[in-house]
Amino acid sequence: MSRRKKTFPCGHKGYGQACHRCEQEHKARDAKKQQKQEWESTFAEDPIDLKELPAHVVVKARIIIAGLESHKNYREFGGKRLRHNRFIISIPVTRHYRMLCYDKGSFVIPHAVLSHEDYNVDKPGG
Ligand SMILES: [Zn+2]
Repeated sequence: MSRRKKTFPCGHKGYGQACHRCEQEHKARDAKKQQKQEWESTFAEDPIDLKELPAHVVVKARIIIAGLESHKNYREFGGKRLRHNRFIISIPVTRHYRMLCYDKGSFVIPHAVLSHEDYNVDKPGG
């Protein structure tokens, strides 16, 4: 039985009812979409907004948040109090990002993760 290649409306050539190349592409796209949705749904559990951050920063920030929640000392993460406000603690997340936290006495509350650029804008007189 001879099968002849045909050209599908998408422009690809192949056999059968539908273009396998496009089917594969759709599948890959759906899988990617689902992965993205799963990733985005994890942000609902974060105490602070991490959505705009690169994935590796999100992962590191979550490690720090989990550490603070289990009452680890911020100094374990290299955190320091700000000189101009002793109730704010700055913890390095990566080389380019830091987490600002509020010192509430017996515990530390994460406030935001900022890039160095954001951070410098927020500084008084900066
Ligand atoms: Zn196709």
